[in-house]
Amino acid sequence: MSEPLTAVDTWRPVMEAAGYRCQCEGECGNAHTKGDGRCPHEHDAYAGKGQRGRWVRLMAAPADPLTTDLAAVRLPASELRAWCPDCHTAAARLARKRLPAAPADQCGLFDL
Ligand SMILES: [Zn+2]
Ligand SMILES: [Zn+2]
Repeated sequence: MSEPLTAVDTWRPVMEAAGYRCQCEGECGNAHTKGDGRCPHEHDAYAGKGQRGRWVRLMAAPADPLTTDLAAVRLPASELRAWCPDCHTAAARLARKRLPAAPADQCGLFDL
C-alpha cells in the first residue's frame, strides 16, 4: 500500500481511524447515496469502472477544507480526516462560496 512521502506519521493514524476510506459525508455537495451517505472511495482502490477509473490517493486534511496548509500542519491527527481529492476540492469550493465576501482570517494563504 503506497503512502504519501510527507507527514506519514500524521497521515497513517488518520487513515487507520477512517478505515482508509474517504470520510466525506456530503460536504462536497454529493450526497454519496452509493456509499450510504459516505464517500465510497478507499485509499489505493480503483475509483470508477472503465476508462474514467483511476487510483485514489486519500489525503489527511482538516475537516474544514478551508483551513490553510500552514494551520493544518499544526493540527493533531484527531483534528484531521481522510479525504479523497475529489471530495476535498469540491468541499473547499462549496465552503468558499459560503464565506462572507471579505473573510478576514482566510486572506492570502489559501492557494487558489
Ligand atoms: Zn470522497
Ligand atoms: Zn464527498
